[in-house]
Amino acid sequence: QAFVAAIDGANAHLNAFVLPTPELALKQAAESDKRLKTGDARPLEGLPLGNKDLFCTAGVRTTACSKILDDFTPTYESTVGANLWNAGAVMLGKLNCDEFAMGSSNETSAFGPVVSPWRRERGGKLTDDKLVPGGSSGGSSAAVSADLCLAATATDTGGSIRQPAALTGTVGIKPTYGRCSRWGIVAFASSLDQAGPIAKTVRDAAIMLRAMASHDHKDSTSVETPVPDYEAALGQGLKGLRVGVPKEYRVEGMSKEIEKLWQEGIAWLKAAGATIHDISLPHTKFALPAYYIVAPAEASSNLARYDGVRYGLRVPGKDLIDTYENTRAAGFGKEVRRRILIGTYVLSAGYYDAYYLKAQKVRTLIKRDFDDAWKSVDVVLTPTTPSPAFGFGEKTGDPLAMYLEDIFTVTVNMAGLPGISVPAGLSGEGTPLGLQLIGKPFDEATLFRAAQAIE
Ligand code: GLN
Repeated sequence: QAFVAAIDGANAHLNAFVLPTPELALKQAAESDKRLKTGDARPLEGLPLGNKDLFCTAGVRTTACSKILDDFTPTYESTVGANLWNAGAVMLGKLNCDEFAMGSSNETSAFGPVVSPWRRERGGKLTDDKLVPGGSSGGSSAAVSADLCLAATATDTGGSIRQPAALTGTVGIKPTYGRCSRWGIVAFASSLDQAGPIAKTVRDAAIMLRAMASHDHKDSTSVETPVPDYEAALGQGLKGLRVGVPKEYRVEGMSKEIEKLWQEGIAWLKAAGATIHDISLPHTKFALPAYYIVAPAEASSNLARYDGVRYGLRVPGKDLIDTYENTRAAGFGKEVRRRILIGTYVLSAGYYDAYYLKAQKVRTLIKRDFDDAWKSVDVVLTPTTPSPAFGFGEKTGDPLAMYLEDIFTVTVNMAGLPGISVPAGLSGEGTPLGLQLIGKPFDEATLFRAAQAIE
């Protein structure tokens, strides 16, 4: 009831929830109350969560924050969602995000942007500038940061869990590709998409991920490997842990405050018992351009299904082709159309080898960089973002400036590795900054353990 009231009070301003579901929440909560009384509690009994509107919810409208899905109501629940509700968690509602999760600021949502609960400080005073909560999981990060839910689901194709977590002072982990089932999650770029939690603390994120992860025969890329008790791995110190610091992440023009934060992170890990090693990930600089070929290519293919016949919006035309055209022109926003254009271009005959195939080769090289790194280190430490939260509209006019937000996060998706962002300090303007830890495949436990030395 407290969370339902909090959403009622703050959501009109923050716009974090696109669809609060108070009745469903109170119904689930009543069941939890009963179980808690009878000693029949499940692991997440009664914990109130938000659910990114990319996750299909049985009987509850799911839009991917796109007009093209309009009032689509799935008849099925995503596997990740089902895992959470079966563990006793309560859904408070569906959370805002960038349209089809394409964006880094939550400004491409058909429901309008999310306002970060954080404000800049200048000359000792809070300003009224509206700041972005990051994206694409901006509803998730803002809602957790503003205490509208205890934790939230999110997805990360090229940074969409970690970047919003960094910009709102929350913890976000993108697990290893295959750790969580993608079934029932609206697809963006299938070889990169992963679900994960955004939470207040490392411990909460550990508890959430354990509940979300599972092998699922409905997603052939989900991996059949046991899900460890991440919480049990916490609090063991970092003695013997080898931390790599990649020189390629010291990008040109990196701000002093990000550089300083990174050095502080290194010192904290050292103080907790870790050893620090300079490493090289030579293909890092190709990750962002390669990502912005692979992701749009897969997106253009995944988005082909929105034809005005099978889902959501239909704008009838004089014949079938005309209906497709009218529907897609009215239903997709500008950024999504840009991705479709890039994606179909790089996949088209004559350009496929030069762009898509080359990007896939680069991807293999990026993965090999990490394979080599794991011979000498156990985790890699980098900043999560190149800058703190920016203001509304600051980057919307220049897609490349927006894409550069993802410079430190996309390599992890290209290599399929787990990555966590953990709050590490405040910028000169008093807004949050995050550090990122990257781990070996399926070694999320070590990430949680190391992240606790930073939070
Ligand atoms: N900002 C990136 C993009 O727009 C990543 C999005 C994501 O991880 N879903 O592609």
